[in-house]
Amino acid sequence: MHSGKGDRPASEGQIKKTRTQKESTHMNIEKTLIHRGGCLCGGVRYEAAGTPVVVAHCHCEDCQRSSGAGHSTGAMFASENFHLQGKTAQYVLESSRGNQVTKLFCPVCGNSILGSNSAMAGFVTVSLGTFDDSSLLTPQVVVFARNKKPWDVMDESLPTFDTQPDWKPADGI
Ligand SMILES: [Zn+2]
Ligand SMILES: [Zn+2]
Repeated sequence: MHSGKGDRPASEGQIKKTRTQKESTHMNIEKTLIHRGGCLCGGVRYEAAGTPVVVAHCHCEDCQRSSGAGHSTGAMFASENFHLQGKTAQYVLESSRGNQVTKLFCPVCGNSILGSNSAMAGFVTVSLGTFDDSSLLTPQVVVFARNKKPWDVMDESLPTFDTQPDWKPADGI
């Protein structure tokens, strides 16, 4: 995750322009991918550039309640690579570890867009289901497995942690 931002301007036009087969074979290398997404009503839109720091399933109880499902799945990006448009509202809560967790959502449709954690300043975790094409993002890890509900399904093929491992974005994957 050390691809320096800015050394390659993310021009959408350039990424999409694939004229010859020769070019297309090199397309995926060293290009800055732009992941786009937004909320249910379309009032909030965003762009996230590059490869996420990590994509994780979180089974913690806050994620269960906030998502209304068994777990949340999010892709973490550096804040500087994430740009959001539209009006949002936020809700701040304290995590079980005493960190400040901020949830950003659309005030019109209520769609939860992202969360950030004071323990990982400078990063945002974007709800995977809000990406226009989330097939490009693959979960790599499961956290808070201890809170998994009996009716939920956990991906046991992934590295799994009972709680949040002692991991920082700088560690990479
Ligand atoms: Zn909305
Ligand atoms: Zn969680």
